Amino acid sequence: MKYFMHNEFEISAKLENRIKMYFDNVDIITTEVKIKNKVYKAIVDIKSFLLPSNFDCFNCLTNCCIQFPYEFNRKSRKIILENLKEYDELTKAVSILKEEGLTELEIINSIKNDDMLIPQEHVKKTFDRCTCSCVHIDRSLCALHKICVDRGMEMKEIIDIKPLWCSIYPLEVILDEDNLLYIFVPNKKNDYLAMNDSEIPCMDIKMSKSPYFRRENPIGFKEEDYKPFIESYHSVLKYILGEKFVNDVENNLNLKKAKNQESQYNKKI
Ligand code: SF4
Ligand code: SF4
Repeated sequence: MKYFMHNEFEISAKLENRIKMYFDNVDIITTEVKIKNKVYKAIVDIKSFLLPSNFDCFNCLTNCCIQFPYEFNRKSRKIILENLKEYDELTKAVSILKEEGLTELEIINSIKNDDMLIPQEHVKKTFDRCTCSCVHIDRSLCALHKICVDRGMEMKEIIDIKPLWCSIYPLEVILDEDNLLYIFVPNKKNDYLAMNDSEIPCMDIKMSKSPYFRRENPIGFKEEDYKPFIESYHSVLKYILGEKFVNDVENNLNLKKAKNQESQYNKKI
C-alpha cells in the first residue's frame, strides 16, 4: 500500500494491517473514482464524510497547512513565470533567492524545473514551506491561487493548475497493489492511519474557538459555516474524483444534493 497524495509514500506491513482492520470495522461503500483520467475502484469510509468542516482558507489567518506539496505541473510553472512580478510581490521568493546569490536566469530555470520551484538546497534551509505561501495585507494566502483568481479563472482551471494534494487536502487516499483506493476523511478515530492532519480549525469546531486560534484569527470561524465534509468539498470532489463518487457518498448518507459551492474557492482578496 502507498499514500496516493504523498508521492506514493510506502506504508509498512503493520500499518497496512491496521488500515485493513479499520475498513473491516467501519461502514463502507464501494464506488468508482476517476483521477486524472484513470478509473479506480474505491472503498470509502462513508461516515467520515459527515465530519463538520469549513475550508475557508482565504479567511483563515494561519499559514498554508501544506508544507511542501511535492510537485508543480507545467501549468503552474507557466502561470508563475507569466506573473513573476506579482509572484515576487506576494511571496518575495525571487528577491530572497537573489539575496542568496542566484541570478534571475537561475531562478527562472528553477521555477521551470525544480520540484518545489526552488533549488533543492534551499528547500527547508531558506524557505520553511512552499514558496507560494504568502501574506497579502492581513491574509495568509496561496500566491498561485490568488494569481489564478485575479485572472478570473474558474475553480476547475485553478484545480488543474495547483498541485493535486493542495486541492484535495486533507482527504486521505491510500492505493493498494490491485489499484484499489481506500478513501477516508481524517478525524479523531482514524488519524493514526493518516499522513494528513485533521487537527486543524477548519476540521474541528472546538479548535476554531480555542484561545490559540482566536489569537491569530480574532474573528474566528462561524459554527453555522461548518458543513459535512462531502458538502463543503462537494464541487472540488466532484471535479477531482468524479460525479459518481459524490453521488454515491451523498445518496448513501441520505444527504440532499449539495449545491456547487465555489465561492470560497474563487474569493478575490
Ligand atoms: S486550517 Fe483549514 S481553512 Fe485554515 S488554511 Fe488550513 S486548510 Fe485552510
Ligand atoms: S501551492 Fe498554494 S496551497 Fe499548495 S502548498 Fe503552496 S501555498 Fe499551499
